[in-house]
Formats: sequence, structure tokens, C-alpha cells
Amino acid sequence: MSRSRSHTGPSHSPAWAPPAAAEQIWNEFSKEESTDEATIQKSFIRHATKTLARSSYNMDQFAAYQATAHSVRDHLIDRWNATQHCHSVKDPKRVYYMSLEFLIGRTLDNALLNLNLKDHYKRAIGGIGFTIEDLVDEEVDAALGNGGLGRLAACFMDSLATLDYPAWGYGIRYEYGIFQQKLVDGYQTEYPDYWLTFGNPWEIQRLDVSYDVRFRGYVEKYVDVSGQTRYRWEGGEKVVAVANDYPIPGFQTKNCINIRLWSSKPKKEFDFASFNEGNYDKSVEEQKAAENITSVLYPNDNHMVGKVLRLKQQYFFVSATLQDIIRRFKKTSRPWSEFPQQVSIQLNDTHPTLSIVELQRILIDEEGLTWDEAWDIVTHTYSYTNHTVLPEALEKWAVPLISDLLPRHMMIIFELNLYFLQRVEKLFPGDRDRLRRMSVIEEGHPQYVRMAHLAAIGSHHVNGVAELHSELVKTTIFADFVEFFGKEKFVNVTNGVTPRRWLHQANPGLSTLISEKLGGTAWLKDLSQLDKIKAFADDVGFQNRFMDIKYKNKIRLAEYVKDVTGVTLSPDALFDVQCKRLHEYKRQHMNIFGVIHRYEKLKSMSKAELEKVVPRVVIFAGKAAPGYYTAKLIIKLITSVANVVNADPQTSEYLKLIFIPNYNVSVAEILIPASDLSQHISTAGTEASGTSNMKFVLNGGLILGTVDGANIEIGEEVGKDNIFFFGALTAEVEDIRHHQMYHNVAMDAKLQGVIKSIQSGRYGDSVIFEPLLGTLRSDYYLLSKDFTPYLEAMERVDAAFKNKSAWAKKCITAAASMGKFSSDRSIQDYAKRIWKITPVPTTEEFA
Ligand SMILES: *Cc1c(COP(=O)(O)O)cnc(C)c1O
Repeated sequence: MSRSRSHTGPSHSPAWAPPAAAEQIWNEFSKEESTDEATIQKSFIRHATKTLARSSYNMDQFAAYQATAHSVRDHLIDRWNATQHCHSVKDPKRVYYMSLEFLIGRTLDNALLNLNLKDHYKRAIGGIGFTIEDLVDEEVDAALGNGGLGRLAACFMDSLATLDYPAWGYGIRYEYGIFQQKLVDGYQTEYPDYWLTFGNPWEIQRLDVSYDVRFRGYVEKYVDVSGQTRYRWEGGEKVVAVANDYPIPGFQTKNCINIRLWSSKPKKEFDFASFNEGNYDKSVEEQKAAENITSVLYPNDNHMVGKVLRLKQQYFFVSATLQDIIRRFKKTSRPWSEFPQQVSIQLNDTHPTLSIVELQRILIDEEGLTWDEAWDIVTHTYSYTNHTVLPEALEKWAVPLISDLLPRHMMIIFELNLYFLQRVEKLFPGDRDRLRRMSVIEEGHPQYVRMAHLAAIGSHHVNGVAELHSELVKTTIFADFVEFFGKEKFVNVTNGVTPRRWLHQANPGLSTLISEKLGGTAWLKDLSQLDKIKAFADDVGFQNRFMDIKYKNKIRLAEYVKDVTGVTLSPDALFDVQCKRLHEYKRQHMNIFGVIHRYEKLKSMSKAELEKVVPRVVIFAGKAAPGYYTAKLIIKLITSVANVVNADPQTSEYLKLIFIPNYNVSVAEILIPASDLSQHISTAGTEASGTSNMKFVLNGGLILGTVDGANIEIGEEVGKDNIFFFGALTAEVEDIRHHQMYHNVAMDAKLQGVIKSIQSGRYGDSVIFEPLLGTLRSDYYLLSKDFTPYLEAMERVDAAFKNKSAWAKKCITAAASMGKFSSDRSIQDYAKRIWKITPVPTTEEFA
């Protein structure tokens, strides 16, 4: 029925051989343009007039942003082409980072800084009559992620490019990113984020790179020519995956790598049978369903929701990505046995785990390898990053769902589970409970596939994302697997953040000061050099400059807050920030209960007492999953308390409370450099790592936090005097929960006071908050146990903030101790210990 070209990749017409004259022009135009002011201005005007079809009398600021973006994109494409050419000639081992989320944020400012073109463009654009800062602000965020996991993927891409590693990111080009959050009557309301409305200059659509992806159908058993029984997956329906490329420039290198995001398109073959029967509507509907696959990002963070469309997204992404990787591998005609020497695939959480099954299927069903040959290749190719041990976040998919959508994959999962359990039985004969615990299949009605088990069995390494978390991985969810595989398979790679975006770009004042002291910008590629800033921690002149930068960042934030909430903030107050996804385990409710406690206390103070109080601004930001009722109630409580507190003339000098709506990367870039204190107060053992904790300290703020995730390692680096720790330890949590449950432990008295205050109706009708207060009965997250220690830690913060010089010293020392938390260090860890890849700089002959 096919009337169109196949979708299995580019056509193989003979390679074009240009005539000599054409080749000369080609070479001239494919060189990177020069970056003098006049050339940039010409490029801007060329794009304004030719790409955007604007004329001088209908240019506005947004069009100017677009023209600038297209002009910068030209540089990216030149470098991208050079890098790809270099890599295809040198053909090194590559790493493929598979992630269902990339929380990139804006690109223009980042690209200008990484390309070292910011000053050139500032002058050139200024000369045309626009201000580069205004144009940067016109860009909408690429918000193709929920929170930490997606942002980690984006930081890793920046580091991979900067360190010249031959790497690709693979993901989905969602048409709707994470929803936009607005406050209506103090409640979160969600609006679709159709971020592509005005086009996207940062993507290159590759209609020539497309693959068919099959769903459903049936499995056919047959005997091949050599008499082997084999299987093939047939029938069902097909959709097409089309590549969209996002060039990612490294900092101060020619290398520019690629994130390839797939979008789904209907297969061109039209259902003419349906059409001829007059069933036009039905055939159109099926086409539409194909496009639906990549429509929207699921907005759940650390919470599994078993929707069919999500499973479709996962397989769609996995299938297209593997076809692309295999096509590239096959170009060099190596034998399959060399695949793991050429290809390393990292799974960012279990979301892409079907990739393991899909590679096994391709190798045995399509490439004719034996089961054992195939499985050997698979298990030397994959590695898997675990991001959580929270039970509600562990992915499991109902067997009937997978059987229906991916019948051959379900067969393979059962088979590899059987072989795996046979190996377990051999090592631990008769240990039935162990077999039950370790099985990929959770028994029940229905059965479920445990994706973490599948990922662990199919990978050569499993890593956690901070020391404590990696220990928990080994002692909780994978304890049996450590006994079976040995502990060497389970490693730690502590997360990091890119200092290019999170310091150089977000905090240019501080970046400039550091470069001045360190004699250049080399530290931005080797963050361990920050250490040398410690020498200035006692220098009063340096302290003043450091804190003056902080002060200006606080003014910038205050202006933003005034803009979006109408509330006026004094930059002299202590800015206390908690911004992250709303989640009970992150305990934003403990923070707001603490604010209520502070407010009540202020109300009871005399004038003389009040004058000794450290004025405080408490700022929250973060999105709640649309279906997460308790998290949304926490937002409503914050906004309700804010309405009362901010309008109280008796206390307003000493306490302000803000909820900044629509937290995203661009908001984080304003918020983080302006904080004196940030809170990372998850119940011990629940936050795998956290990465915003790193961003805050890097920007000269201190942490108030629990002994959890990467807080612990940050504490080790900055020293115990430069971080405010409190609360129960991981090892105590289970016992405390047990004790609370069976011994009628009374709630903390101060927390009871807070609850009374809420129930008095002071913050509006308290009935609406009862379900939230009700969670304190079983108190799974230990708010009561930690509340008094939390308030005491707050008092230590207030006392410390009063001594300006001592506070400055703490901030400088802490920031200067953050060398470990560059994502460059994380990536080097992965590259050396897990991926076994080395840098491949793009050399002159390719540029
Ligand atoms: C860094 C970052 C996160 C992660 O924050 P945590 O506090 O580590 O959970 C989430 N969202 C955005 C926009 C970020 O930049």
C-alpha cells in the first residue's frame, strides 16, 4: 500500500560530488563566520529580513530576539557540523545519554557565553538599537522536564560538550512542556505550556532522519533456513519518529554536541480501505493518535502513574533511539561483538529501560544472534542511574498492558527473568523468598514488571546519585542484587551542576569577581580551582565586594517579586529560599509551619524585643503535580499565610512571605544568586541527592538542611561551621516511625501551637487545611520529631546573620569549597569508571 518513500532513513542515492567551483564556494560558506561587530550586524539583518521576512518598520523586541537567535544558531551549526564530521572520521566509542526529560531552560544567553560571543553581540546588538539583556528575556524556557532529574540531564550535556566527550543526548520533543503554574485565589492552577507557538530557532528538524516504530500486533513463530526456531514481531500499527536536533555548545571549545529529540508523526500510508468505506473520520483519528504520543510531558516528579500513553512514549523513544544508534554503528561494518566497545548507553532512571529488551529483540529476531551472544552484548552496553528509593516512585508496569502494546517484548522479559532466576536458584538453592523478591515479575492480579530489576539485570553498572543514596540503593531495593552480582556493580556518582549556567550566566557579578582573583576564567572548566578563593575569606575588602554582589542580586530579585506579586521586599533582610518541586518528603509544610511559629512569636513581642529581630523574607517556589492533592494544599496554606503576614503592619518590617509562581530554570537563575539561606529539609533518607543545594552554595548562600542526600557531602566540603544541619538521621527514621505508631507519642508542643493557630481561622477558613493537618497523625515524614530541632537551627541562623563579617566569611568559604559539585566532575566519574570513553576534541582540519 506504500506510495511514499520509506521512513527507514535517508535515501541512498549516490553521494554528491560537487564541481570544483561549487566546492570552493561550499567550503567558503561552511566556515564559521567572523565575529566582528559589522559581521554580526549583517547576520542579524539578513535573518531579520530573509529568515523572518521583517522590514525595518515592523521590527519589535521579539523579532530582534529571533534574528539574534538565528544568527547565533549559525555559529552553533558550523561547530556542530565540524564536531560530527570529526567524530565520524575518528569513530571513537560514544556515550548515549537516554533521558525522558531535559530541563534546558533558555538557550540564547548560555550559547553566547559558551561561544565566548556575549560581548561581541552586546556591542553589535546595541549598535542596532536593542539591548541584549532585553532580547535574552524574550525567550521562553524549554521546560521538557519536571525538576532535578531533567535538569541533571541538561547539566550533563553542558559538561559532556565542554569536556569534548563524544556524546549524544536522546529524548522526546514534547509539544507541551511542564505546565505553567498560576495562582488563582491562592490555589495552583495549571495552564498548558505550548512553548513552540512562535517557532524555535534552537532546533533543527531532520525530516531525513526518521524511523518507523511499531505497536501491538502479534508474534510469529517460524523455523529459519538453518532449522532454528525463531520469532518475529508483525502486524499492529506503525508511527514515524522524526529527529529534531538541539546543538549543545561546550564552553571555550569548538565541540558542539547534540541532543536528538524525537517527535511522532503518522505514517504516510493512509488507510484507504477505511477511506473508501466512507470512514474518513476514523482514518483521520488514527493519524492524530500518532501525533499524540509526543504531545505532552507527564508532570509527575518522583511518582509513578501507569498510563498507557506514557508507556507508548517510553517505547517510541527507545525504539527510535536504538535504530539511530545501530544505523551509526553499522556505518563502519564492525562485527556485532564490537558493539559494547563502540557504544555505551546510560539510562537516566528506569524510564528508558525497555531499551534493554529492545536491543535483545533486535539482536536475536532481526540480526540472528543467539540469545547468549545477544545478552552478552546488551549487558556490556547498558548502565543505569537510580534516582530514588521511594516506593511510590519505582516504576512498575502491568503485564497485560505490556503484552498488549509490545507482545514480543513481554515474551523476552519473561524469558530473561526465567534465565536470571535460574542463576539465582543455582547460587541460593531453594531460597524461594529470595526468588520472589528478586524476580522482574511482581506476582499478583495482575502481575507487574519491576523496571528497576530489569534495569539492574541488564546493566553492567548501577549508580546512585550521592554517597548516602548509593548506600541506600545497596542496602534496600538492591540488597539481594548486591549479594548476587557482587558489590562492584553498584557504584556512586555524586551529582553536580554546571558552573557555566549556574554561576557564570546566572551570577555574572560573582563570576567576574572570581575571575579577577584567579586571573582568568580557567576555573570555569576546572572548578577545583575555586579553592583558592578561600584565601580571601578573611579579607574585609573582599568580603564587602562579595556581599555587595549578593546585595545587588537581592535587589534584582526584589524587583522581580514586586513585578509578579506586588509585594515590596527590603534587600537588607535575610532572604530565606525553598524552591523545588512540592512534595511531602521535601517538607515544604515544615517550613510554612515554621513561618507561622515565627509570626506568632513576633506578634507576642514588645517593641524593644522586636528591634533585636533579624528581618526575614521567606520565599517559596515550586510546582505540585496536578493530581497531588496534599502538595497543592501546602501551596494554598503558604499563599493564605502570606496574605495575612504581608498585610500586618505590626510585623511587616520583620517578616515577609512570598510564593513565586511558575518555578522554572529562568526563575531559578534569578532566585538562587539572591539567597542568603536556602532550605533542603527532606526527611533523612528520602532525597537522593538534590542539586539546587549545590547551586545555592556555589552562589554564596548557606544551607539549612537535614543530614540527607548531597547535603552530607556539601557539609564535608564546606565544614560543619558553614552549614546548618538539624534533624533525625537516616538510621533513626525507621525506629522513630515504629515508635510513633505504637506508643501514642504526643505531637511536639510548638507544632501543636502552630496547628491551633491555623485552626483559629487566622489564615482563613481552616476546614480546607484539615486534610493537610491530618497527615500529621501518622506523620510518616517526621515533622513532629524534627520541628523543635528545626526551629533551634533557625535560631542559630539568625544569630549568625547578625555578625556581618562572620557571615560573609562563612559564605565565601562555603562557595569556595564547591569544586567537587561541578557536573564536569560527575561526567569524568562516569566517563572513566562506567562508560570507558575519552575526550575527542574537534581539531582544526574539521573546523
Ligand atoms: C536545580 C533545579 C531543580 C532541582 O531542585 P532540588 O531542590 O534539587 O529538588 C528543580 N527545578 C529547577 C528549575 C532547577 O533548576
